[in-house]
Amino acid sequence: MPDLKVKLTAPNGTEYTQPTGLFISNEWVPSSDGGTITSIDPTTEEVITSVSAATESDIDAAVRAAHRAFKSEWRSFEGTARGALLYELAALVDAHASTLAAIETWDNGKPYTVALTEDLVEVSAVLRYYAGWADKISGKVIDTTSAKLTYTLRQPLGVCAQIIPWNYPLAMAAWKLGPALAAGNTVVLKAAEQTPLSILYLAELVKKAGFPPGVVNVVNGYGRVAGAALVQHPLVAKVAFTGSTATGKEIMKMAAGGLKNITLETGGKSPCLIFADADLDQAVKWAHVGIMSNMGQVCCATSRIYVHEDLYERFLEGFAARVKEVSVIGSPWEEGTFQGPQVTKRQQERVLGYIEAGLSEGARLVTGGKEAAGQGKGFFVAPTVFADVREDMQVVKEEVFGPVVTVSSFKDEDEVLARANDTMYGLGAAVFTADIARAHRIAASLESGTVWVNSSNDGDFRVPFGGVKMSGIGRELGEAGLDGYTSTKAVMVNLGTRL
Ligand code: ADP
Repeated sequence: MPDLKVKLTAPNGTEYTQPTGLFISNEWVPSSDGGTITSIDPTTEEVITSVSAATESDIDAAVRAAHRAFKSEWRSFEGTARGALLYELAALVDAHASTLAAIETWDNGKPYTVALTEDLVEVSAVLRYYAGWADKISGKVIDTTSAKLTYTLRQPLGVCAQIIPWNYPLAMAAWKLGPALAAGNTVVLKAAEQTPLSILYLAELVKKAGFPPGVVNVVNGYGRVAGAALVQHPLVAKVAFTGSTATGKEIMKMAAGGLKNITLETGGKSPCLIFADADLDQAVKWAHVGIMSNMGQVCCATSRIYVHEDLYERFLEGFAARVKEVSVIGSPWEEGTFQGPQVTKRQQERVLGYIEAGLSEGARLVTGGKEAAGQGKGFFVAPTVFADVREDMQVVKEEVFGPVVTVSSFKDEDEVLARANDTMYGLGAAVFTADIARAHRIAASLESGTVWVNSSNDGDFRVPFGGVKMSGIGRELGEAGLDGYTSTKAVMVNLGTRL
């Protein structure tokens, strides 16, 4: 058996042991054909290490392990016991937070302070939140007639396939593992090929926390091979996916073969509406957070800004100044860095392609617009603001998934609502106004899973998140997040003999 762990030292000096195998039944195993995925540091473009890539038969082994666990030992874990394991995992995540954050930064390029103080805090908070739910998932007694006792049971679905993206690997894993395990399911989780490392370290913590073998299985693998095999496996009852809309559509088609339960969280092109009565400083601050955080690699990023004509030029001036002041580009290991590199060369090229398109379609470039200069290596892109855009431009219509935002002006509420909703997506939307009636009126009319009033991209693990239209199906987080991992069984008891 090859050694499936390597000793690594992250660029900030963190020394740790990186597992590199497939985590199946609490054991590390190699890929059956020896295939690997090589992880690249997006800051230096150097190789970090290689990890096993699952084949179809490895996926079969992982799903069978999860199925065995679901049918046997895991069943005897009552909600309180499942919750205790999740609490223990959350505690281990906190204890290992600096290592996990270092891996995330190395592999993904996000600033280390953000990984440590935002992503990792969220990971343990989500796990704890669902640990608390584990013994509070109950059915109901439903009054029917005096001759009948009718009640519902909320039962786990079985083996859940969970496919996560590269922008928030650990946080997306927590969003999916928490509710699935709280509800008593078992899991095969596949990380994105761009960021395969942190999830393997988390798998070690799963084992340490005491989860029985097979309850959580973690694999890396290519989407079209391992991902597709996982989605189509006959023993998989549920597929939960976060990623692009194009891949989400593929997954829905594949899951249809087995009529599997699905949760999809896909792309977005979220609008941000700023009315003339808005607090300008707040609007500028949040509009910046809403698009420039995480290198713009956020599915609910508010990437289309609409500003009332009376405020338009003042907003643009303040926003451009804010971008220049706050969006400090550089090494993600430096304390003062706001923006690291994009995750891969391919993403960098994709984003630069959209910037080219914006320029050639005649959008006014306010700031940015080219590869960040002076970095030498690394997949950097300058934060870019386009103004005076038209609705038919590619940068306005399509999801860029980078630090690129479009700004245009509007005259009245009906017009801006129509423009905001004129998209196939519906993930998030923000509105800035001091008029409380307008805020609620617009919140009700925006076609999106979340509306932020006087903020943008605010998130909370107690609040459901998800999309409408082509931004997804189902909800994650909050109590609603449990619905995707339970099925409701009706039990009808006949108490008499009259009928
Ligand atoms: P991106 O286009 O940004 O790389 P994707 O939506 O394609 O994002 O990837 C998100 C996740 O979906 C990753 O874990 C990836 O491996 C997986 N994936 C990609 N293609 C497929 C597929 N055909 N079937 C199942 N999973 C897939």
